[in-house]
Order: sequence, then structure tokens, then C-alpha cells
Amino acid sequence: MDILDKLKNREEIYYPIERNRNTDLRFTLYDAFLAKKRFERFAPLFMEAFEEINGPCYYKSDLYKSKLGADVYLKLDSELKVAHSVKARGGFNEVMVKVEDVLKENGMLDKFDELSLNDIRKIMAAYTIEVSSTGNLGLSIGLCAKAFGFKAKVHMSRDAKDWKKKLLREVGAEVIEYDSDYTYAVKMGRLSAEQNHMSYFVDDEMSEKLFLGYAASIFEVAEQVASSGLIPSDDEPLHVFLPCGVGGAPGGIAFALRSFFKDSVRIYFVEPTEYPCMLYSFVHGEAASVNDIGLGGKTIADGLACSAPSKLVFPIVDSLIDGFFSFNDESILRAKKDIEEIDEKVVEASSAAALLAYEKINRPKNSILWITGSNVDK
Ligand SMILES: *Cc1c(COP(=O)(O)O)cnc(C)c1O
Repeated sequence: MDILDKLKNREEIYYPIERNRNTDLRFTLYDAFLAKKRFERFAPLFMEAFEEINGPCYYKSDLYKSKLGADVYLKLDSELKVAHSVKARGGFNEVMVKVEDVLKENGMLDKFDELSLNDIRKIMAAYTIEVSSTGNLGLSIGLCAKAFGFKAKVHMSRDAKDWKKKLLREVGAEVIEYDSDYTYAVKMGRLSAEQNHMSYFVDDEMSEKLFLGYAASIFEVAEQVASSGLIPSDDEPLHVFLPCGVGGAPGGIAFALRSFFKDSVRIYFVEPTEYPCMLYSFVHGEAASVNDIGLGGKTIADGLACSAPSKLVFPIVDSLIDGFFSFNDESILRAKKDIEEIDEKVVEASSAAALLAYEKINRPKNSILWITGSNVDK
């Protein structure tokens, strides 16, 4: 059967590709390094703003040796404090850059080290940050924006979980709910921000700041790979499985992994059969919506419910990754249960999809399943 028919029939797919080795990846590891330095520079402010943290536990996660296979690890972004997902990486970087930009506009950036959290809050109070989300990005951006004194407006698609909206409202963010999908929420968020010249819209489909925040993960990953039993080589590469929604998070992480490990890493994107937007666009030859082929309904993997791919990541996806996977809700739920029972880790359905891909290609040695979020129900 033709791949397009398989997509339309919501079949589970493994689609390996011949990686393009000649594309310019647009960014360098130095760009990612600068994002990492930003996290370090802002750390004292974060620790003042959030009681629950006393170190980098809100942007650095453990690499945990799993019992799900002989040589497989879980990258536990599900256990990140504050934002509870991979979105802490991109979202916090985006807000920190905005803080720096505002300080610069006001001629105060060179005094950064002398400013207290309260000083920063007073200056940021005149500005609004808006974002559209299926839940986790809104949570990350909204919590961080409020912590630094911004007004925050979060446009949530119908997929967003109640506890995330509740938590945002508790810290004073405005949450606008749509009974529609993520693409629609993006449209409304962008429109809303255009009407207020003091408002800044975080564009998940285009943002380089989100992308580089995700990419900054490479420095902790390299450290953890070196101190674990993983020894990546071209013959026995690292295998990294990344759940993919719009593609920003897995794209940023993949860019950095590829730049760092070159041919000693195989990278895979994993999508739900209802929203295989990156794979469909790849097969189609241009960025397109899965609505065009009749997909885009409900899925248990709400964090991946994006109908069209990132315009930043899609053009380079063939240089980043070695293949695509898609899985249906039934399989994803089974995987979630396995991780929760065998490794005793509470995970979001979206992240459990990584396990299915690992199993489908017969549990290769040196595997990392990126556990992108948890399902803490607050
Ligand atoms: C957002 C998200 C992803 C994927 O990130 P994209 O940038 O949308 O591709 C994966 N898992 C979880 C839990 C997420 O919240």
C-alpha cells in the first residue's frame, strides 16, 4: 500500500529515510551554548521566584537506566520542576530572551547582575507575552512570564488539560480556551498579540529562541552519555526517540544531537497516527496540514496534537533524522502503562510513544527514550 493511503487509514508506520548530509543546519552548537549560559545566568532569579527549586532541577533532567530493555535509558523531562515537561527548555529560554530584550531597550542590560527579581518584575509589568498551546507550552511560558512580572495571555486549544489551565490562572495568567485545534489557537493568539503593541507572541511554528532552548539540552546529555554505559560510535550509534508535535522541541534537540554526535547518533521522530504532520509534510514535499487528508481528530497524545509542522524545523528535518514512526492511541496507552508499571515513572501519553518506536525496531543498544512530559494531575 502506498504511504499516503497508510497515513489516511491511520495505520501505524515506520518510515526510515536516507539522511541528507549536505544541508546547512542554520545554527551552531555555540548558539545552543549561549542558551545554556542564559539558563545559568538567570538561575538565581528562578530560585527566588519558585519555592520548589533549589538548583537546576527545572531545566536539567536525569538520564535514568530503564528496566524496559537491556541498554535503554529514559531522559526524564517529565520530572522537571515548575513546567513538568520538555517545554521548560524552549519556553524558559524564550521568556529569558524577552527579559533581556526589554532590558536592552531600556538601556539596562549591562546592569543585569545588579537587578533584583523585583526590579525586573517592575520593568516587565508593562509588557504582555502571549502564546498558543495544547497545554505544556502555555504552562511553561505562562508560569515563567508571570514569575518575571509580565502579563501573560495563554490561548489553549481544546486538548489542554484542566490542571494546566487552573495552575496558570492561579498565578495570574489569563487563559483563553478554544473549542478548536492547535492551529486555530495559534491563529487567534497571533491576532490578539497584533492588536496590542506591548504584546509579544511566542510563535511555536517559527521561534529560534524555543529551538535553541531545546538544543541547549545537548550539554547535559553529552555529560550523561559520557558517564553512563553508553559508548556511541558510527558502528554502534546512539538511538534517540523523540515524540514530535509541531517539531520545535524534537527539532531543537535533534539539531544539537546531530551537530554533536554526527554519524554516531540515529534520531527518530514519533507521532500519533491522528497527527503525523511531520511525516505527512515530508511525503507531500512541503509543509502541509494533516486536515487535508482527513486526519486531526482526538488523540490521547494531546501534547502531539498539531496538524501542521514547524516552518523552522520542517525544511531541515531530512538532515536531522533517520526515520519517522506513528502510533495509535491504543498502542500509546499500552506503552504508558508499561513505563508506569515497569519503571514506576509517571508519564504523559505523548512521551510514551517513544517506547513503541524503540520496540518496533527491536530494541537497539544505546537507546534513549525522551520522556517529554508527565501526567501529574494537580
Ligand atoms: C510539546 C510536546 C512534545 C513535542 O514538542 P513539539 O515542539 O510540539 O514537537 C512532546 N511531548 C510533550 C509532552 C509535549 O508537551
